[in-house]
Formats: sequence, C-alpha cells, structure tokens
Amino acid sequence: MANIVAIVGRPNVGKSTLFNRLIESRKAIMDDVSGVTRDRHYGYAEWTGKFFTVIDTGGYVVGSDDIFEGAIREQVEIAIEEASVVLFMVDLDTGLTDLDKDFASVLRKSKKPVFVVANKADTNLKAQMSSEFYALGLGEVYPISSQNGSGTGDLLDEVVKHFPDEGIENPEAGIPRFAVLGRPNVGKSSFVNVLLGKERSIVTDIAGTTRDSIHTHYNAFGKEFILIDTAGLRKKSKVNDNIEFYSVLRTIQALEEADVCIVMLDATRGIESQDVNIISLAAKNKKGIVIMVNKWDLVEKDQATAKKFTDTILERLAPMDYFPIIFTSVIEKQRIFKAIEKAVEVFENRTKKISTSSLNDVMLKEIEHYPPPAIKGKFVKIKYITQLPTHTPVFAFFCNLPQYIQPAYERYLENKLREHFDFEGVPIAVVFRKK
Ligand code: GDP
Ligand code: GDP
Repeated sequence: MANIVAIVGRPNVGKSTLFNRLIESRKAIMDDVSGVTRDRHYGYAEWTGKFFTVIDTGGYVVGSDDIFEGAIREQVEIAIEEASVVLFMVDLDTGLTDLDKDFASVLRKSKKPVFVVANKADTNLKAQMSSEFYALGLGEVYPISSQNGSGTGDLLDEVVKHFPDEGIENPEAGIPRFAVLGRPNVGKSSFVNVLLGKERSIVTDIAGTTRDSIHTHYNAFGKEFILIDTAGLRKKSKVNDNIEFYSVLRTIQALEEADVCIVMLDATRGIESQDVNIISLAAKNKKGIVIMVNKWDLVEKDQATAKKFTDTILERLAPMDYFPIIFTSVIEKQRIFKAIEKAVEVFENRTKKISTSSLNDVMLKEIEHYPPPAIKGKFVKIKYITQLPTHTPVFAFFCNLPQYIQPAYERYLENKLREHFDFEGVPIAVVFRKK
C-alpha cells in the first residue's frame, strides 16, 4: 500500500515550502532512480521508518481570486480521493480567512483524517496564536514552521499513526512507464480511451514528475503499468497556434519520462519521416520501443501485406531492426492487449541482467568462431564480457586493445547478443575496456 499525504490550502500559506521540506531528504535518492530532477508536485518522504507519498495539490491547481470555487473543489477532490491523510494548511500571518472556512466546510464532510496545520509559526509566540483556528471545527491545530521545520516532527508523529502500514519506499518502482507517441491523428487518444474503457481499472491518477504530465496507474488485462500523459501541454496547444511545436515538446517530455515508447504509425500512410524521427529519438534515449501500426482495419489485406509492411518499416529504420511491430485496430479493438503485452515484455527485456557466466559461455564461443580482424598486424584478444549495472543494457567487452575494435565487429557482437538473449525492442550498447 502506498501511504499518501495531500497538502491542501489556499495559495501562499506555505504548501510547497512544506512539500519541499518533506521530500528533501529523499529527493536525491529518487532523482537518482528516475533520472528526473525537474519541478514536481508529488514526491516521496519518510518519517520514523514509514514511507509515504506527498502531493502538493496547490502545485497543479492554480488558485486565482476569480476561480477560487473551482480550485478548492479540485484540490480537495484530489486530496480526498487519493490521500490517506489530508494536511489542511492555514497561515498564522494572515489569520483565519473566509476561504479557509470554505475549505473547512468541504473537508469536514470527508471521511479521511484531516490535520489543521497552522504554518509560519517561526517563534513560540506565534505558535500560541494558532488557537483561533480551532474555530474551523476540525479538531487539533498543529502549529509548524515550514521554513525552519519547528513543529513538523510533532505533526508527522501523529500523521504516521493514520497510515495503514509501513508504506512502500517508491510505489512506482518496478512498474513499467509507457508513453504513447505518434503523429497527430494516428489514434493515440482513441487508444488511451480504449484502455480507459471497460477493461480498465485505474489504480490512481497522480500528478507526474512535471507540472504538465499525469501518470495514470493502470491495472488492465492483468498487467500493471503507468501511462504518461502530458495533458498540460495539450491544453496549451489549444491556446497557442503553434500546435506542431507543442506536440513535439509533448513527445519529448513523455519520451523522457517513459521506460517504453509505444510508437503508433498510421497504416493508411505507412512510415513517414516524422515517425522515423520519433523512433530514432527514443532509441537514442535508450528507451524500449514497440511499434504499433494502427488503423489496420482500413488496409486491404492479403497473406503478404503484414510482411510487406514490416519490411518497409525495417528498411526505413535500418540498421535498427529489433522492434516488435504489432498491427492494430483501435476502433475494432484488435490486438490492443497484444500491444500492451509486448510493451511489458520490452520493459522486462530492458531491465534484465544476464549473468557474467552465461555471457562468457555464449559470447566467447562466438568470438572464437569469428575473432576481431587483425588491424595493422595487431590481434585484439577479448578476455571476458560482463553486463554493467546500468539502467539499460550495456555490455563491456574486456580486451587488450579496445581502440582497434571496428564498428562492423561491434555490430557483429551486438547481433550475437541479440541472437542469444532476448532484447527485442531494447537499444543495447556494447563498450570495450582495456584489460
Ligand atoms: P503555497 O502557495 O501554499 O505553496 O505557498 P509557498 O510555499 O509558495 O509559500 C508562500 C510564501 O510563504 C513564501 O514566500 C514562503 O517563503 C513563505 N513561507 C512558507 N512557509 C513559511 C514559514 O514557515 N514561515 C514564514 N515566515 N514564511 C513562510
Ligand atoms: P490522435 O490525434 O493520435 O490522438 O488520434 P485520435 O485518437 O484522435 O484519432 C484520429 C482519428 O482516427 C479519429 O477519427 C479516430 O476515430 C480514428 N481512428 C483511431 N484509431 C483507428 C483505427 O484503428 N481504425 C480506424 N479506422 N480509425 C481509427
């Protein structure tokens, strides 16, 4: 179970200051895992051995005077739906406001535990002023200073008592993150909508690692995965004329956050240069890739059609030839499950580790069978191979003269690795080290 703490309150009370304080100690670790260091509105925290996710609801619900109503409702809805505990923050400098009362009246109806947190209690004297907030009718008031940390320990001691369990260090760790990419009109939203359809079971919808992306946690077709949707950028593109620019931005952002990119092509148009660009970008970023040829229902087919399509795609992508290609019809719900299943497989291929002994058993034989060609009368001798402990597969070949390995031989080794170990859909790297 993931323990989730949501911070709600009107703008400027200090929500994001507290949020940053709570996730501070864990940030370095998380960034290391996810490779993401940007602004975000949810993060992972720990207190006395209990792990929890913190959501700064204010971070993605913009509060301005004229949209108070909507903003409150949205914040509180998110908080009440998602959270195990709600921190309702008020501000000792401004005292009790009407807006605080509006928040309170909604929160009083919630069944979730709500803590009134009186922020900006930088001194004991100020902390004593917090009693006015008992008028909110939500029980105990906890004076804290998000800025200097005072009072936060007492607050957290109480908060963690409401968690059902110890929590998970990183609730998203190990769950595949998919981005659905492709040119406009190829069927991306239709695909996502099918996933949202009756087969779906969304576990949770939390704001993602950046202001503009939403990570939706699915449990569909018996598979658990997270779909990355950069909703915010889509909204912007409606305001701005430059749809193309924003669609490129969206693509790049979603791609960066994903483990596997599901790249959709339009069967009625074949593979186009923009498709090649997206796939190359994903490969360059060492992302897993599944190619989905959509609108297959619109193609007149015989026995050879799929094969012809595959050949054309691989020709355009050469020398890359390791991608699974699935022919789908989102409209007729054909092979949707297959696409998700493939994406999960590719995710597994991307994270798996081959033992040094099986690598050497297999690859040293191949090397013996076809050794690196001699260069300037010098013989390259490869002694052993090991997979490096990196996030994506990298294989180090230890040898006497690494500088003499030619690109063609590198490709030979990569092909042999792919032949013996399943790395379908995954860019792999081969490096040479001196030994
Ligand atoms: P949010 O809009 O609720 O997320 O509020 P912010 O975290 O952005 O804080 C609003 C302002 O209050 C900023 O200028 C903070 O520096 C200030 N602030 C936040 N926490 C404290 C605190 O504990 N004491 C004092 N004196 N100022 C604080
Ligand atoms: P997006 O711009 O990539 O999100 O594409 P949409 O999901 O909005 O789809 C664009 C159009 O293609 C819509 O009219 C869809 O109904 C249609 N479409 C999507 N998938 C398929 C499919 O598999 N077959 C057919 N015939 N039409 C499709």
